[in-house]
Amino acid sequence: GGGKGTQSDKIIGAFSIPHISTGDIFRSMIKGEYQGTFPVDQIRDLMNQGRLILDELVVNIVIDRLRQSDCRKGFLLDGFPRTVEQADALSMELDKLGIKLDGVINIEVKDEVLIGRLTGRLVCRKCGATYHSKFNKPKSDNVCDLCGGELYTRDDDKEETVRNRLLVYKNQTQPLIDYYTKLGMLKTIDGEADTDTVFAKICEALE
Ligand code: AMP
Repeated sequence: GGGKGTQSDKIIGAFSIPHISTGDIFRSMIKGEYQGTFPVDQIRDLMNQGRLILDELVVNIVIDRLRQSDCRKGFLLDGFPRTVEQADALSMELDKLGIKLDGVINIEVKDEVLIGRLTGRLVCRKCGATYHSKFNKPKSDNVCDLCGGELYTRDDDKEETVRNRLLVYKNQTQPLIDYYTKLGMLKTIDGEADTDTVFAKICEALE
C-alpha cells in the first residue's frame, strides 16, 4: 500500500534489472505457477491473516533467485527483507556472492492513508495492473483498462487483514529502519506524493 509495487515496476524499467518480489512469488505459488514443492496451504493462510511467511522459507527462495546469472548486473528486492533475521541472512549471502547493496528505500506513508489505499485496491487477475475504487477507477466496473481482465480484491486487502499487516509491520519490519540507518544505507522517501514525484525522488536517492 506504500506504492512499492508501482515504484518497483518503474525502477526495473529504468534500470533494466530483475524484479524479485517475495509477495509476487508467494501469490504465484498459490496459483500453482511457481516451480517446486512448497507448503501452499500454510502460505495462503498466513497471507490471508496478514502474517509473515517463515523466515527460513523466504530466505531460501530469495537466495536461490539471487544466485541466478541475471542478477549479476544488479537486481531489485521488493518486500524483502521484512525481518532482522531475513536482513542478516541476506547480508551473509551477499558477502558470499561479493555483492554490496547500493541502498535501501523506505517509502513512508501514514497508517490512515495506507488503510484507505489498500481497502479500495483492485487488481487485474490477468495482468496484475492495480486500480482503486475511489482514486483510480477503471473505465468500466471490474474490467481492466489494459487487457480486459477481471478485477478483484486481494484477500489480504480486507480491512481486518490490513490492520493486522500494519501491526506485523510495526513489530517485525520497522526495526529494519534502525538496522539500515546504522549501516548508512537507508533512503527515506515521502510516499504520499504522486507516483511520478515519488519515482523521481527514488531515482535521485539511488543515483
Ligand atoms: P506484498 O505483496 O509485498 O505486500 O506481500 C504480501 C504478503 O506476502 C505479506 O503480507 C506476507 O504475508 C507475504 N510476504 C511477502 N514478502 C515477505 C517476506 N519478505 N517475509 C515474509 N512474508 C512475506
